[in-house]
Amino acid sequence: MSKNEYFDKVLVANRGEIAIRVMRACREMGIETVAVYSEADANALHVKYADEAFLIGAAHPTKSYLNMDRILEVAEMAGADAIHPGYGFLAEKAAFSAAVKKAGFTFIGPSEATIKMMGSKLDSKQAMHDAGVPVLPWTQSTDHDEAKAFAESIGYPVIVKASAGGGGIGMTIVNNEAELDEAIAKSSRTAASAFGDSTVFIEKYLAKPRHIEVQVFADSKGDVIHMYERECSIQRRHQKLIEEAPCPIMTDELRERMTQSAMTVAKTCNYENAGTVEFLYDSGNYYFMEMNTRLQVEHTVTELITGLDMVRMQIQVAAGEPLPYAQDQITCRGHAIECRVNAEDPMNNFQADAGKISRYRSPGGPGIRIDSCIHAGYSIPPLYDSMIAKLCARAMTREETVARMRRALTEYVIIGVKTTLPLHYAVMNNPEFIAGNTHTHFLQDPTITQS
Ligand code: ADP
Repeated sequence: MSKNEYFDKVLVANRGEIAIRVMRACREMGIETVAVYSEADANALHVKYADEAFLIGAAHPTKSYLNMDRILEVAEMAGADAIHPGYGFLAEKAAFSAAVKKAGFTFIGPSEATIKMMGSKLDSKQAMHDAGVPVLPWTQSTDHDEAKAFAESIGYPVIVKASAGGGGIGMTIVNNEAELDEAIAKSSRTAASAFGDSTVFIEKYLAKPRHIEVQVFADSKGDVIHMYERECSIQRRHQKLIEEAPCPIMTDELRERMTQSAMTVAKTCNYENAGTVEFLYDSGNYYFMEMNTRLQVEHTVTELITGLDMVRMQIQVAAGEPLPYAQDQITCRGHAIECRVNAEDPMNNFQADAGKISRYRSPGGPGIRIDSCIHAGYSIPPLYDSMIAKLCARAMTREETVARMRRALTEYVIIGVKTTLPLHYAVMNNPEFIAGNTHTHFLQDPTITQS
């Protein structure tokens, strides 16, 4: 019998800022926290933050943060009653959700079946098309003549995508018939080595879409709500760098349609817990791309416009409680922007730059939120994600939020490694960004990355 209303002890199967983010919610809820860490993370902040910490293996993720058996062993040893996967690593591994449950712990996230269905871009696309959610035209056929006929029927360019893909990996744009076979072969090869599944499909390619996603939340009773949308068009290598909420071009009518579609997606896959339904938007139309079955990096901007704590909600729902808020209690107030601070050189093709941070001073003041795992003297280990901090600004209007972010960026001091901070500053001063005119190829404009 649990002493706490929800759980007594939660193990966080992750590292970095997200591990700390989850532990912060636990601490506020009176829940004890267990950290796991690799040999490379012995001095990491998430280890110090937790009530207990266990070494789980060598630096390489397959030996530590992806080692399900070892993590479950620690959960048992520590007497945890639930496991939060964060994002990345095991967060979207259906087998982990199942193994956690089988071992007698609560998985703070969706079920094995849901993760499995959404883990296949192809299956989920078919299912959502059947449920009446708009999707881009696609074909599963990789036979040259059939693929050619498909591409000609919708017009080039098309994109070849890995069904099991993630992190922008395995996508190849095809401009004409001559490129078709090689693109299919290339995406299949990449998919096989990155995901152990070579299945690819071909889809219409949108030249300048926006990436708009809807945050949904569902409880174990089948109730689903949305928490508005996020605009995530500022990307490098198909991966997000700047996110904001709400979307600057959103109208009431478009929001109504997109949030309804997102909730249909969640209901169709019996969703439970926090999830994100991703759409591409182009000229008044939107298309379902995929659902991410976890807490997103950019959940922060949603928290800032709604005033809610999404990790707290995740824990409540995982404990079997109904959603703590009804749809009409969730309101959008003001505007929020997140800049991902990556240890990367934006002037050199975003090459990762591991190393030691010699000086660190983070911004503060009104409307600023930072989620990070770094400090002066911290050495960034080379084997993990290059994101070292998330800088968020919130204000009542988008204009004030951009000005606030610009101000915070000038206060941020990180010496010792190259970061994306100068790029963020350039974007915050870019007239097109200020006007809200963004699309997924925005950063390919050389005047931004070379300024
Ligand atoms: P992943 O799961 O690897 O992140 P997604 O399917 O979420 O891949 O797509 C990531 C990004 O790739 C999108 O935000 C968008 O920029 C680009 N993209 C994907 N599909 C298309 C498409 N059909 N047309 C144009 N851009 C696309």
